[in-house]
Amino acid sequence: MKPEVIIVRLGDLTLKGKNRYIFEKKIHIQIQKLLAPYEKINIKTEFARFYIELNGESYNEVIEVIKPIFGISSFSPAISAEIDLKAMQTRALEWMQSIISKPQTFKVSVKRANKEFLYDSLQVSYWVGGYILNAVEGLKVDVKRPDLELRVDIRQHVAYIFTEVVEGAGGFPIGSNGKAILMLSGGIDSPVAGWMAMRQGLEIEAIHFHSIPYTSERAKMKVIELGERLALYGGRLKVHFISFAEIQTRLQNEGQPNLLITLMRRSMLRITEKLAQQQNALGIVTGESLGQVASQTLSSLHTIGHEIKLPILRPLIMSDKSTIIQKAEQIGTFDISIQPYEDCCTLFIPKTPSTNPNLKVVQRLERKMLWLLEFEDKALQEDEQMVLQ
Ligand code: ATP
Ligand code: MG
Repeated sequence: MKPEVIIVRLGDLTLKGKNRYIFEKKIHIQIQKLLAPYEKINIKTEFARFYIELNGESYNEVIEVIKPIFGISSFSPAISAEIDLKAMQTRALEWMQSIISKPQTFKVSVKRANKEFLYDSLQVSYWVGGYILNAVEGLKVDVKRPDLELRVDIRQHVAYIFTEVVEGAGGFPIGSNGKAILMLSGGIDSPVAGWMAMRQGLEIEAIHFHSIPYTSERAKMKVIELGERLALYGGRLKVHFISFAEIQTRLQNEGQPNLLITLMRRSMLRITEKLAQQQNALGIVTGESLGQVASQTLSSLHTIGHEIKLPILRPLIMSDKSTIIQKAEQIGTFDISIQPYEDCCTLFIPKTPSTNPNLKVVQRLERKMLWLLEFEDKALQEDEQMVLQ
């Protein structure tokens, strides 16, 4: 027996009134978009859930397609029954018979949203459970640790019967916690940080600094591929490509090799903060992780972010590399990230970057670089935008 419908449960959005409706609508649109190739599917909405009515499609395949969507807590492939005790018994038995392959233990759990139904939850589980127990040989009841939990969900006009609850991506719907700019490099960390930020309900726009002609077009393609992967979760992703070659060469010519990375990072952050202001974003997300490289010691982070007013969100700050890699594999960015194309920073990296850059020294150096802010503004103005779907 094939499931007829997939119940899609939304997480606790902790949002009231109109906003909740807007975010439910957003998830609905994302589901519709991802399921567009399945022309015969019908989607019904109800408060805090959706019902995806199948028409012969594989439920596993459909769940896999919509699993990346944030704000969905779980899925259940189900069949329906009329609001009638006899109908529930018959349908529940048919369902159990179709999935049982060997003698197993089970229990019945009933939820009754329809308070007008004649019988309460306990009575329904008693009558449905007893009916199945009588009809299926070798089946036993175990209320503590059953192999199968048969659930009957009695709604207003129909009852749903199912045994499986598949976990969704969780989190909050994109945009429900505001908007931030993700600093997206071609590395392993920043795409993971972006995914975590989106999962937490942030709408993301990305910024990427490239050093063409010192870096190749292929390195840029890699960032596009990463962006496309992230767009799978967010619906779409706007990426701003900023040419950083000129600023980088000029910074290099200042003859401060040990402070070069610090100066570069400060410059990138200033440009990112300006972009954030232009795009009405209230935060900056990075893939930094404490102690990972010289520019990510506490002292470096302090000097790099000192003048930035917007919150710098670093979802990976306390994570170790192996955990980050695991996540990257899970969300499908790892294989893209490890393609061997050079990053703008690795090319210019000095042999001995400072792990303890002195803020006052850096500030003094920057004050003397009269060209700096003008070049940063120019780089931002010449920003090349791309919307990835
Ligand atoms: P990643 O794997 O994200 O590249 P990383 O360990 O290589 O991280 P760094 O190169 O020190 O770390 O960069 C730290 C953070 O700065 C990155 O996670 C990213 O958020 C940002 N960043 C670095 N390079 C760029 C770039 N070219 N464009 C945009 N953001 C960048
Ligand atoms: Mg990097």
